[in-house]
Amino acid sequence: MIQSGTDFARYELGELAVLALRDGYVDMPPGRLRQKGDRPFGAELPGQVRLVDGKLRLSVNAFLVIEQGRHILVDTGAGNAWHPSMGLLLRALAEAGIAREDITAVACTHTHTDHVNGLVAPDGSDAFPNLEQLFVPQEEVALFDRSERLARFRQRCVPMGNGFAVSDHMVAVAAHGHSAGHTMFAVPSGGEQLLIWGDIVHVPSIQFARPELTWELDRDQVQARSTRAQILDRAAWPGMFVAGAHLDFPGIGSVARDGDAFRFSPL
Ligand SMILES: [Zn+2]
Repeated sequence: MIQSGTDFARYELGELAVLALRDGYVDMPPGRLRQKGDRPFGAELPGQVRLVDGKLRLSVNAFLVIEQGRHILVDTGAGNAWHPSMGLLLRALAEAGIAREDITAVACTHTHTDHVNGLVAPDGSDAFPNLEQLFVPQEEVALFDRSERLARFRQRCVPMGNGFAVSDHMVAVAAHGHSAGHTMFAVPSGGEQLLIWGDIVHVPSIQFARPELTWELDRDQVQARSTRAQILDRAAWPGMFVAGAHLDFPGIGSVARDGDAFRFSPL
């Protein structure tokens, strides 16, 4: 980390800059955790799982990659479309000294509320007035036809499949399961690689230790479980870092193997 504030943290990755941006948090009942057979897990939460008023507190983060002056935002937070505990993204950008006019590309890991609704500012205007390209998993582009709030972005949508190059340093990697088109971004630079992995882990205090546990909102529980296992394995290779939308802010760190389980160490 080379610079940080209340709502942002800035890192260097080879020749790139990567910023973690705080959108806020959302509290969810622990019963959303699922064990195999889609049974709730809540009753047996181990001691390391922190609850706030009986709920799990999930950070909501977005990440900005700056590549040769081009600003690519990965996910946009919830805007004012969900709980008021989210929607700080524009404030976080301002604190980091980034003008929202500088953001010309947004890449979405998937199209859930807390990842795309921040495309619209609280006053109803475009959050990023100079947005040219909106990279969206091809399985989920249809949302922009259905959603009244987001229809204005439909013409700028660029559908992505596995292996799609978002930029010279950013490749889309299919990581389906949490949603139909859930995608992560592999960002290699300077001999290291960052995986901006979206919603591979929702509850860091338990899913690194118990990666078989799924989340009620995972569209396909079996696929989400096997995708998480594969990606955690890849993340534990040397020189890899991860950036997670729901890892505790700032949400960037490394993953290590611990027997059949994993450990996360924030950077
Ligand atoms: Zn999410």
